[in-house]
Amino acid sequence: MTEFRSYAADFHIHSKYSGATSSQMDVSTIAAQARLKGLTFVGTGDVFHPAWFRSLKEELVEVAAGTYEHRRYGTKFILTVEVEDQNRVHHVIILPSFSTAESVREELARYSKDIDRDGRAHIELSAQEIADIVTAHDCLIGPSHAFTPWTSVYKEFDSLKECYGDRLGAVSFIELGLSADTDMADRIAELADLTFLSNSDAHSPWPDKLGREFNRLGLAEPTYAEVIKAIRREDGRRVLLNVGFDPRLGKYHVTACSRCFKQFTMEEAVGLKWRCDDCRGWIKKGVMDRVNELADYPEPRHPSHRPEYLRIAPLAEVIGLATGEDPHSPGVKAEWEKLVMSFGDEISVLVDVVPELLLEVTSPRIVEVIKSFRTGTLRVIPGGGGRYGHLELGTEVARRLPPKPQRKLTEFGT
Ligand SMILES: [Zn+2]
Ligand SMILES: [Zn+2]
Repeated sequence: MTEFRSYAADFHIHSKYSGATSSQMDVSTIAAQARLKGLTFVGTGDVFHPAWFRSLKEELVEVAAGTYEHRRYGTKFILTVEVEDQNRVHHVIILPSFSTAESVREELARYSKDIDRDGRAHIELSAQEIADIVTAHDCLIGPSHAFTPWTSVYKEFDSLKECYGDRLGAVSFIELGLSADTDMADRIAELADLTFLSNSDAHSPWPDKLGREFNRLGLAEPTYAEVIKAIRREDGRRVLLNVGFDPRLGKYHVTACSRCFKQFTMEEAVGLKWRCDDCRGWIKKGVMDRVNELADYPEPRHPSHRPEYLRIAPLAEVIGLATGEDPHSPGVKAEWEKLVMSFGDEISVLVDVVPELLLEVTSPRIVEVIKSFRTGTLRVIPGGGGRYGHLELGTEVARRLPPKPQRKLTEFGT
């Protein structure tokens, strides 16, 4: 009997060569941060970008076919890229080798003006044509952030068939995106056979971004071949768990103005012809409303192969809520590292470790907020229009909390 073990994987990130991405998205920083997040595998993203391709080849070493390991940190990389098609729909592509990446890139480059410049290239081909090319080279393809109101398959089409045409059979997964989860997606009948991936689409390497969504895969060994089997659900390999945002925390969960973020019901938005009545900005349809339009069922119908979806929030945000600091502040980062170093990974801290043990490492106030997160008693302010949702303590929880520890001003210098 083959024994399976669980490995965490985040397939979709962007390098510093994609638009609006942190200059710190370099190979070493990603490899180091992925380890802290407990990720065995991270997608390279942007593998068609010439400079990124060169740094990947320099810093990674192939340890099994298609499995590339960082020389210093040991993080395993799978070659991935996101492309935009002629309808501005985004697709995630997973590739078996550097040489395949070169061949596929060469074919696609004929239809792209920006493939040398932008890590996420625009390709002047249909989804069907792109799927044709990449599957001829043994790559996997599936739609990125399938429901977002920009650049997604369900923004442009009412079905995957309309998008991928005759090549629909080549699609083995969809990426849920931050604003959707399994309960939402499984209201749509045509998705029943597909594997759902929950990826971060990170544009910066910090712990609230990289690996903020990931997949736990059940594999015999941590290799590319096994990863592909898991996505295709072959020989007992599979996704064991999707770990992702509470979809309300995503940027596009509810229908809202893309300029001032005022939120609307569908009826209101339609009545206003999708123009905000406060600022005249465009109103963007939320993922929840889009799923309601597409849904075949009022309630989710999970196929038997569908894994659980664990709803999480970034631990840094939960800590920041307790200390009243920005999730990117040095204080929060220090607490985050202490907890993650002590208990192995973020999910253990957020979900599994008993409060008594957490208390040995961090303040009672942070532990109380983690407990409230676990019991679902924090308030969730939903995101929309391009602004993330966020957590609030709410008056009940705030009243119960032990006081904030007083930090001496000198700690931060002057
Ligand atoms: Zn995208
Ligand atoms: Zn507005």
